[in-house]
This record gives sequence, structure tokens and C-alpha cells, in this order.
Amino acid sequence: MRYIDKNTCKAEGNGITDEYLENECRTTDPLSGSVRYMNIDYSGSFTNKGYRGRMLGLAMTTQKKYCCYCLRKIGNSKLATLEHIIPQNAPSTSGYDKYGELSKGEIALTKDFSSAHNQERPPYPHTIAWNNLVVSCKGQFPLDNNVSSHCCNNARSSLYAPPVYYLQDIESRIAIMHDGSIHAKVGECHDEINSTIVAAKLNCTALKEIRRLWYKLRDIPYREIVRCIYDRNQRMKTLVYAFKDGGDFHSIFKYQKDDYWKVFMKYHLFYLIFREAN
Ligand SMILES: [Zn+2]
Repeated sequence: MRYIDKNTCKAEGNGITDEYLENECRTTDPLSGSVRYMNIDYSGSFTNKGYRGRMLGLAMTTQKKYCCYCLRKIGNSKLATLEHIIPQNAPSTSGYDKYGELSKGEIALTKDFSSAHNQERPPYPHTIAWNNLVVSCKGQFPLDNNVSSHCCNNARSSLYAPPVYYLQDIESRIAIMHDGSIHAKVGECHDEINSTIVAAKLNCTALKEIRRLWYKLRDIPYREIVRCIYDRNQRMKTLVYAFKDGGDFHSIFKYQKDDYWKVFMKYHLFYLIFREAN
């Protein structure tokens, strides 16, 4: 996980929500003239009328197209999902509201916003709020695309996953081991980071394997790794080098396949992460 700065595009993000509320949800009482915002519907009008797509596009830009959880580079928005940090069906914002981005001044549950006497914003209704929406991958890996999700947004579902990527020093609070597993370091926020790692299944086999392979290739020039995309002989040589000690023929066979190598390359950020750690 890496720090995600929601402030850079906050005005535009909130602007999409404002526009949605004004265009699709605003009602005026004919007698009193008072304005109410009703029928806020993320899966319905927010999605169907294109607001979700715009929000996703903006969040993709903010996150430089990296998954908020596993750091996969997401090529295009069709492969991306919008993650509700406070789940859509959450009974309260408790456990999330200690993060400034999700504080009570910024975010209200949609049901509370809908019934509130005062509907001035902020706080924004959580199901359509910029600060409560981040981009996540679908957590799918080749050969088992029937498995709906191994990690990240869908695998997390509604489990408690506090937005530890809103901590500016999140990277220094996570240890990535040589076997590819990741762990919260002892110290402040340990339990919250751990909750998110477990909820988003960031130590699933596929992710661990991919991080382990990046660790093993950290000393090879990056251009040689890139060459492996189209040069299968180079790829075989590289894999044999990576697994020379353990004789891990299973991994060599697996990553020699184009589909696996392509997904592996989407995690190129770990090349930098392991090199910086050296
Ligand atoms: Zn992911």
C-alpha cells in the first residue's frame, strides 16, 4: 500500500457528487419551497448516469492507476472497481471516522444524510463521496478467472479495512519479506494496518508469489525484465536465474506463460520498492 492523497482532486471529486445531487436527487416542496435531496442511489442513477465512471476516472488519475491495496497497475477503468472504504451497507462510520478524510465533518452515512434536517455539504453521503471512494483492482489472476476475486475490493467485501493508505508514512510502516509476504511493523497503527492486510487478503498465494519473484529479480536491470515480455528465451533465462537455488520448476513453468508474466509485470512497483530497501 502507498499513500493516497485525496486532497489533490478534492474539489473536482466533491464537484461530481454535488452535480449528481443537484441534477438527480434535488426536490423542491411546492408549498414551502424547501429543497431536499432524495433517492441517492450509487448502483442506480449514480452509475447509470455516468457519475460513477467520472469518479472512477478521477480516482484513477489520483492513484496513478495503482490499486489502493495490492499496487497492481490497472491498465484501464474496465479492469478497475471503486472501493467504498466505509462499506455501502455499514451501520455506522465508527472505526473509520478517526481518519480526517472520513471524519464526521466530511462524511455521513447516506441514510443519515437523507434523513437529516440540514443537508448542507459537507458532510457528503458516504456511498457517493470522493473521500470514501478509492480505486481497487478486481483481484483476479490468470487461469482461475472463474474465481471471482483472490484479493482487494471484492475479496474484502464489507470486512473492516481502515484506510491506512491515508497515512502519509504508510510505506514505512509495512515490512515486505523476501518470501513476498507483507506485515505491519510493530508500532502505531499496527492493528489497523493488519486489519486491512487481512481483510483485503494481501497475503494470498498469488500476491506473495509475485512479490517474491520481484524480490529475486531486484538486481537485474529493469530493461532486461521488460525484454522478457516479448523475448521468451530471455524470460526462461531470467526465471531459471530467479529460482536457481530452490529448483522451483513449478514457478518457472508458471511464469513462462504469457498470462502470468503479464500480470507479474503489472506489479512493477515492487522492483522499485525492493531496490529502495536494499
Ligand atoms: Zn489490488
